[in-house]
Amino acid sequence: MSESDCIFCKIVAGTIPCTKIYEDEKVLAFLDIGPISEGHTLVITKEHFTKMDKCNSETLSAVVSVLPRITAAVSQAMQADGYNVLCNNGRAAGQLVEHIHFHIIPRKTGDGVFGRWPSFEYPQGKARELAEKICAKL
Ligand code: AMP
Ligand code: ZN
Repeated sequence: MSESDCIFCKIVAGTIPCTKIYEDEKVLAFLDIGPISEGHTLVITKEHFTKMDKCNSETLSAVVSVLPRITAAVSQAMQADGYNVLCNNGRAAGQLVEHIHFHIIPRKTGDGVFGRWPSFEYPQGKARELAEKICAKL
């Protein structure tokens, strides 16, 4: 998906409507059109970046710095017991719109929206081996 046919860039440009929650120079937040819970909000960079590792730290910081305010507003307004902040990166991780965005998903106790993911245990030595691989890329 290129910038010119990116749906979120069109929302930023105002050529596609949105239900706006918040806007500043670098950040836009609006209601998700296909919510998983009432008040499900998307917080996006105004500039087009496909995913987190392609985004510069200044722009990402601008988004992250408004998350406390927006998560507080969304969860208080929805009388949520909690909320998830999710950022899907890449098709394999469930990203459909290739323009970086954070989902804020208000949650109620026992709502069953989604639960714990399946987890496993590393065999002896595996965690260290993986950590070394990752650190070598930092
Ligand atoms: P993701 O799977 O993380 O890429 O999520 C993309 C999200 O964007 C989905 O939850 C969609 O419902 C939402 N979405 C797609 N188009 C629009 C739109 N025009 N306005 C608001 N939300 C949208
Ligand atoms: Zn875009």
